[in-house]
Amino acid sequence: KKWVYSFGDGKAEGAASMRNLLGGKGANLAEMSNLGLPVPPGFTITTEVCTAFYANDRNYPAELEGQVSAALENVGKTVGAKFGDAANPLLVSVRSGARASMPGMMDTVLNLGLNDVTVEGLAKRSGDRRFAFDSYRRFIQMYSDVVLEVDHHNFEEILEYYKEEHERTLDTDLTAEDWLAVIERYKARVAEELGRPFPQDVNEQLWGAIGAVFGSWRNARAETYRRLHNIPESWGTAVNVQAMVFGNMGETSATGVAFTRNPSTGERAIYGEFLVNAQGEDVVAGIRTPQSLTKKARLESKDTKPSMEEAMPEVFGELTAVFERLEKHYRDMQDVEFTVQSGKLWMLQTRSGKRTAKAALKIAVEMVGEGLIDEKTAITRVDPAALDQLLHPTLDPNAPRDVIATGLPASPGAAAGEVVFSSDEAAAAKSDGRNVILVRIETSPEDIHGMHSAVAILTTRGGMTSHAAVVARGMGRPCVSGVGSIRIDYKAEQFTVMGVTIKKGDIITVDGSTGQVIKGEVPMLQPELSGDFATLMAWADSHRRMKVRTNAETPLDAATARKFGAEGIGLCRTEHMFFDETRIVAVRQMILADDSRGRREPLAKILPMQRDDFRQLFVIMKGLPVTIRLLDPPLHEFLPKTPEEIAQVSEATGIAADKLARRVQELHEFNPMLGHRGCRLGITYPEIYEMQARAIFEAAIEAARETGEAVIPEIMIPLVSMKGELDMLKEKIVGVAAAVEKEKGVSLVYQIGTMIELPRAALMAGQIAESAEFFSFGTNDLTQTTYGISRDDAANFMNDYMAKKLISQDPFVSLDTEGVGELVRIAAERGRATRPDIKLGICGEHGGDPASIAFCEEVGLNYVSCSPYRVPIARLAAAQAAL
Ligand code: PEP
Ligand code: MG
Repeated sequence: KKWVYSFGDGKAEGAASMRNLLGGKGANLAEMSNLGLPVPPGFTITTEVCTAFYANDRNYPAELEGQVSAALENVGKTVGAKFGDAANPLLVSVRSGARASMPGMMDTVLNLGLNDVTVEGLAKRSGDRRFAFDSYRRFIQMYSDVVLEVDHHNFEEILEYYKEEHERTLDTDLTAEDWLAVIERYKARVAEELGRPFPQDVNEQLWGAIGAVFGSWRNARAETYRRLHNIPESWGTAVNVQAMVFGNMGETSATGVAFTRNPSTGERAIYGEFLVNAQGEDVVAGIRTPQSLTKKARLESKDTKPSMEEAMPEVFGELTAVFERLEKHYRDMQDVEFTVQSGKLWMLQTRSGKRTAKAALKIAVEMVGEGLIDEKTAITRVDPAALDQLLHPTLDPNAPRDVIATGLPASPGAAAGEVVFSSDEAAAAKSDGRNVILVRIETSPEDIHGMHSAVAILTTRGGMTSHAAVVARGMGRPCVSGVGSIRIDYKAEQFTVMGVTIKKGDIITVDGSTGQVIKGEVPMLQPELSGDFATLMAWADSHRRMKVRTNAETPLDAATARKFGAEGIGLCRTEHMFFDETRIVAVRQMILADDSRGRREPLAKILPMQRDDFRQLFVIMKGLPVTIRLLDPPLHEFLPKTPEEIAQVSEATGIAADKLARRVQELHEFNPMLGHRGCRLGITYPEIYEMQARAIFEAAIEAARETGEAVIPEIMIPLVSMKGELDMLKEKIVGVAAAVEKEKGVSLVYQIGTMIELPRAALMAGQIAESAEFFSFGTNDLTQTTYGISRDDAANFMNDYMAKKLISQDPFVSLDTEGVGELVRIAAERGRATRPDIKLGICGEHGGDPASIAFCEEVGLNYVSCSPYRVPIARLAAAQAAL
């Protein structure tokens, strides 16, 4: 079996289409080689080796060693060197490369193949002793850190100490002999830490690095990342071994990273950084401040050092030609790494670049304009969940702001929150429901969970391509990086800047679009939904089949949802209208009444208020469908609980406190979620539903008069489990309609339907559909009752289930398409068999989740309904599901 694929020198055994086998990096290195771009030769060990390795108790397939040696020899032939050769050594880099780019895994080892002997060869061949020994010490440092797990602090400490001892300030002040001395100390430290010497055998080095890559596939950080991004463990990673090219061979050498368009704004302009006389990781590590690629960017950032365009005009020209070639070929924005060795350009990596939602929209829309992609492709280029970034507020430009510092605008959007200094604290605060801003000197893959938990990230070191910046953009968190003026004191849990001290827990506002750090909270503005957003959404709308409605009960939510493109209301939870201060007294009187007669009087007081609520919704929705659900929660939710609360209510209502307390006792339920709620209330207290039905019908008449649009209300009964419940309640509602028609002299058009949110309802859907004109899947309750897991208590143990890999996703967030989904499927089928034109929708939280929306498309639902801010997400996800 073929386990190893070679590339480089204008040809390759692989191609971009072989991503699953070669990983992203390997597939693209092969593709670039096939395109004839300058790629240092190398080979990819396939993801199948990773899978075989774990299936086989961490043993490699037998043929692997031979295939690696043969491929390595070929690489040597191509560059005219030999691995481990004393006079002319081949050096390689070893990198991981999964199908999806995955921070948290072993990333890179450079300069592999150096030892006490080959370093002399390198020195002679390059004619630069200092360069050779600098490379060797970098290799020891990197290899020890990532492969041998000797922490890098050891080496930093040694180097700092050496520099002090010998009065050297910068790394560049160290001579070849200095590095040699440092190397001896490094080696001694490794031997001390490990109890064995640093490996001199180049093959041992190589297999150590390969093993470290495969081993890192299952380290804790990689597992966290996979869990957050739904990457299956079975994919495995590939390993790429590639001939080294050197960006640290003097002033005509350099290394850099670039995006072919601006990943923050989407603007069509090269965006990136480079460092002269440096090696790959120096740019990302933020040790030296990188220089701009283009002259324009240099002028904008007021950088004093020349840009690549100015310093190396010829290579820069070559580079831009490569960018254009790559964009035309991949038809997407690319994120590339390159190295210039003595004036010659080498491409080390290309991949489709991570970008903000704003950039994704702009790039997708502009590429359609440029003829690179079509509308359908453009629709698939934007992650629906990422739209969330655009729908949220930005800082009000007219509000006063107390700017205490400015850094790099690394990831756009603004947020305010309490300052915390550690990722663990950010995570803890999030589970307490607090908004926090994670403030760090710099971030590393260990901070992923903290960054995820924070509303924004602030770092004092690192550029636009630093870890914090890249990860924040990917996650859609606002981020300001490299705020050099801020001094963080982790011990004292505070930072200072220009005489201001901000302590842990203090509120700051961070604006990732301008780089500003502001003391206190700044008022925000609603987002702008025109331009590229509107264009892409219009394309999405023209390609989707399902309608998108919203869950809303307040005029504000309904109006917001309309603005976001909602095509009606899929769920109006009427109980929310019962809590209003002006009516809770009447609601309580109603609950406390002894009989139906006693309930009618307070209900009569509530009626006009409910009618007005509904009228407003109908007016805002102007003829679009509106589904109103009759009262759902158990009555005790509306009653006061503690003695203090009871005393307050008693005073306000004149109802004796002991009577109140007794009624609270009577209504107590052991398991209210499964208790006297939903249609069961309607069965026992029909006058409540009658009042609500009347309010709906009267409001429909008023709204139709007001807007001139016909209003066809959809009345929905919750928590039905048998057809009989629905029939009994339907009869009452029809009776109310007839009465209203007679009183007002109009004829009403309306529909009566039901939630499908209990397993029995799903199974009996065929019968229920004889009475129900529509179904709306209440997947919150359906998930709760199918799993038998309380939706209010699930958070306490679901994370543990995910950590233990029992489930990959919280089923209350993303629909369990296998189990709960099966019930949805059954209900849809049986409902349609009875009533072919039955209208089917979903109004549980899942209605705004892209993966669940794809399932709804598959089952053929007519619409999804979600909270207002998720309406655009649902519109796009529905279009993607339909393509
Ligand atoms: C549901 O159960 O999915 C639903 C939408 O209703 P609620 O969340 O109000 O119970
Ligand atoms: Mg429900």
